Amino acid sequence: MAVIGVDLGTTNSLCCVWKDGGCVLIPNSLGEYLTPSVVSVDEKREILTGKAARERLVTRPQDTAASFKQFMGTDKTYMLNRLRFHPEDLSAIILRRLKEDAELFLGEPVTEAVISVPAYFNNNQRTMTKIAGEMAGLTVERIINEPSAAALAYRHKTGANGTYLVVDFGGGTLDISVVEIFENIVDIIAVAGDNHLGGDNIDQALAEAFYKRHPGLKDKLSETEKASVLKMAEQSKINLSFAEQTMMVYVHEGKTYEMVLTNQLLADICAPILAKIKAVLLHALKDSGRHISAIDEIILVGGSGKMPVIKEYLTYITGKTPRNDIDPDKAIVLGVGIVTGIKARDKHVQDLIMTDICPFTLGTNIYDPASNDADIFSPIIERNTSLPVSQAHTYTTVRDFQTQVVINVYQGESMSVKNNLLLGTITMPVPSMPAGKAAVVVRFTYDINGILEVDVTCLQSGEHQSKLIVTNHNLSDSELRERREIMSRLKTPPREQDQNRFLLERGARLYEESTGALRELVAYEMSLLSSVLERNAHVSEIEMARNRFMQFLNSVDRPDEEIYLQGGTP
Ligand code: ADP
Ligand code: MG
Repeated sequence: MAVIGVDLGTTNSLCCVWKDGGCVLIPNSLGEYLTPSVVSVDEKREILTGKAARERLVTRPQDTAASFKQFMGTDKTYMLNRLRFHPEDLSAIILRRLKEDAELFLGEPVTEAVISVPAYFNNNQRTMTKIAGEMAGLTVERIINEPSAAALAYRHKTGANGTYLVVDFGGGTLDISVVEIFENIVDIIAVAGDNHLGGDNIDQALAEAFYKRHPGLKDKLSETEKASVLKMAEQSKINLSFAEQTMMVYVHEGKTYEMVLTNQLLADICAPILAKIKAVLLHALKDSGRHISAIDEIILVGGSGKMPVIKEYLTYITGKTPRNDIDPDKAIVLGVGIVTGIKARDKHVQDLIMTDICPFTLGTNIYDPASNDADIFSPIIERNTSLPVSQAHTYTTVRDFQTQVVINVYQGESMSVKNNLLLGTITMPVPSMPAGKAAVVVRFTYDINGILEVDVTCLQSGEHQSKLIVTNHNLSDSELRERREIMSRLKTPPREQDQNRFLLERGARLYEESTGALRELVAYEMSLLSSVLERNAHVSEIEMARNRFMQFLNSVDRPDEEIYLQGGTP
């Protein structure tokens, strides 16, 4: 049975398999490698995913969810057409679809996966990613950090040794890591990141700049219309990866609103975002203890890494031109694929050893009698420590004749544990003695899969307790079974209809975005296709209707980049 490698992205997800000594990308039902991480529920309560769902971000935003990866491990829920989802349920829906694509592609069942997550994901978010896999019927063999995956892909492709700064700038997250590759060892030295910073923020900043240029416009727009403006802003941003200048255009109630956008203007609009990127970059270098001159190359990956503004800014602040030897969209999934190859002990990659680090600090709380503050964080394993790691601290009692010591296990970086995440608690009885006389040794052992073992030993009594904090068990088995059950009852449209569904959703979006004669034309063309689909026509007839509709869409809904760059007429 096959193991798949998955880049479960905030914006786009990709899937691959290690085969015949190489990584093979798996196409989805539309024949594409990138599946938008978007879920929508339609009127019949069928679950749409990928591109069809993405069209509905404009037409049915209230029934459509995107960027839910940012909320993994939180209590946030989504109500889509009266069905309630947690972020991990939505991730599970995407994973289930990737699993189906893989099964069809490979012609065999797929039950295991290696999934990448942002390096900055905390234990809870990692656990929820594993649970999402479980709900999709996949045993998650290993969770790996996205930058580790990108570095692996780079090493595999170039065979180069050195110290690298991996910058992964996606739709919703930024991860910057310092990675060393020497001979066959890939060593992650430091990671830093911001899991609320990505291309989405640039689209928003751009849309705001557009509204600022046209005072009063924003207040006149409905939510759907604002979503259209955001989509237009994203498209304009993408255009600038291919052209020096583009025109932002939005038509509302017969009036045309425009704004000329250049890379220079985009850089100005992005200034606050660029400043945040610099802060994360400095954080990564500082944690690694390396000056930028000790970095051999900058490896730039992620969709937003294609932006000239980002490339130039990184060159400006580091004095080095970022490399992108590997397609920035695919670097991570290719690296995850290599990990599946290593796991399968494939001879092409088995000599590669990958170390990893703990991306956050783990510790407990101590009491400071001077300030009477019991919320002070005492780190035991510092962030960026190489894994596996085992570290111990000794703590003494603070009150006379206390009979027990409570060890709370926290994850986070704040001095006050109130701001950190409580992972678990161990209560240890101690002999009743004057303050400072009884002592316990607390040992934290953190392994490569993010499983924390906490051992507490009382030095006076010799009593020992240990607890595995496999955050795996946040959900009980019965809860998990229940969630899988709900998942299996969700209806999805038959796969062979995916292409039709996408076309109709795209038509519906175009209908909403257009007015007058074009709008009537869209409605007419849609009705032609729908009627052929509804009356179960012959395959050849469906094919003809589909081609006609596709040609129609491509003539009126072409991406700007195609119109303005590939020699078309505007
Ligand atoms: P994630 O890792 O969050 O899933 P991706 O790496 O797929 O995200 O990046 C998605 C982001 O990349 C989106 O914000 C999208 O607008 C942006 N993007 C994709 N292609 C380009 C391009 N050619 N130029 C600029 N931005 C792009
Ligand atoms: Mg990504």
